[in-house]
Amino acid sequence: MSEITKEQRRIAIIGGGPGGLTLALILQRHGIPSVIYERELEDKSHERGGSLDIHEDSGQLALKEAGLYDAFQELARYEGEDFRLFDKSGNAYIDEVVDEEVPGGHGRPEIDRGVLCDLLLKEIDPATIRYGYKLDKAVSLADGMTELLFENGEVETAHLVVGADGAFSHVRPLLSDTDVGYSGLTMIELNVIANLHPDLAAFNRRGKMFALEDNKGILGQLNGDGRIKVYVSFKADRNWIEESGIKADQPQEVKTKLLEMFKDWDEPLQNYIRYAGDTVLPRRIYMLPVGFKWTRNPGVTLIGDAAHVMSPFAGEGVNLAMQDAMELALAIVRNEDQAKAIEEYEEKMYEYASEKARESADNLDLCFSDDAAKKLSDLMNSYHEQFNEV
Ligand SMILES: Cc1cc2nc3c(=O)[nH]c(=O)nc-3n(C[C@H](O)[C@H](O)[C@H](O)COP(=O)(O)OP(=O)(O)OC[C@H]3O[C@@H](n4cnc5c(N)ncnc54)[C@H](O)[C@@H]3O)c2cc1C
Repeated sequence: MSEITKEQRRIAIIGGGPGGLTLALILQRHGIPSVIYERELEDKSHERGGSLDIHEDSGQLALKEAGLYDAFQELARYEGEDFRLFDKSGNAYIDEVVDEEVPGGHGRPEIDRGVLCDLLLKEIDPATIRYGYKLDKAVSLADGMTELLFENGEVETAHLVVGADGAFSHVRPLLSDTDVGYSGLTMIELNVIANLHPDLAAFNRRGKMFALEDNKGILGQLNGDGRIKVYVSFKADRNWIEESGIKADQPQEVKTKLLEMFKDWDEPLQNYIRYAGDTVLPRRIYMLPVGFKWTRNPGVTLIGDAAHVMSPFAGEGVNLAMQDAMELALAIVRNEDQAKAIEEYEEKMYEYASEKARESADNLDLCFSDDAAKKLSDLMNSYHEQFNEV
């Protein structure tokens, strides 16, 4: 392997989500080819949920490295940083409206997942992406290469395989026996068309609304396409979805069940459920152990959710996926020796990702504990004080 240059190596990226796309684009900008193998037959990012806040110190750095910062700025929704926090009776704990006169807001503007992926895809050489390639299994070969077996019957080999294939990575088993665990939180994703419900649109405003109490939550998030994404969230046994009889193709029954569960919540909060359309997506939230590490292999590594899936309560998932992509790409560019590149990337990533995984786990506990709205507002106010003091 040492006799070929990094430009000649076959780099296989499994998964064309935000992490995999960012990695391929930054490598491309440095003249290093790669191939993305994506299980879907075409890009499905528009269908795969919500608005994402892209942070100055991670996701935005990766976009700069990918040459997309200016294009991102044109599309970013700074007003999406508005945030409202209530308890179930409708008492407001935080009611923050971003001042659009202040350039950069809090440094965490929003963009819809589909718009972000389009931005990346537009710059990537189309020949880099193979759709309809679902990895079934990866096998380490004696010469240090990895064999990739796809469900469509194709077999490929690569000098470097990067698992960017999300929470249920098929690359991770090459590196570790650890699997994702259920976090204890179940979410039912709903959608409200904001235009059709001006009362709720006015209540939600331009960004996010969290209502928390009784170990439950209703979370609303205005997307750029005019939908309010709603995540009705609660602590539940792992099998709650199956045992409750909730079926994604019976939206009316789902809404009736959820309204029953939230019957003592304030009217505008219940309206997030009442006004929802027919698209229902039940989700269990999974996580890897905080501080997860694997046995080093110079021919295989992981980025994004495959490396450190965590609950969405630190708002870090996509930012870390893009930061990982940037760090790995730059380590590959810096080092002719692939093993050294992987080591540099992994050591750096373990440090920043474990810190965010801890924060995300702590936030999840806090948001579904007693007096959650008060505790979250205290925590956020203390962040703001620190931020303003610097
Ligand atoms: C409800 C919810 C809300 C969230 N909100 C936020 C938020 O506000 N902010 C934030 O930063 N993060 C948020 N996240 C997390 C964020 O979505 C993820 O962390 C991020 O998408 C990870 O990017 P990724 O590229 O690593 O993986 P993914 O986005 O999961 O992409 C993986 C890709 O791999 C493909 N793939 C999977 N398996 C295979 C296979 N076997 N073979 C080939 N291809 C495969 C998939 O089709 C997909 O395209 C949220 C997550 C959830 C569930």
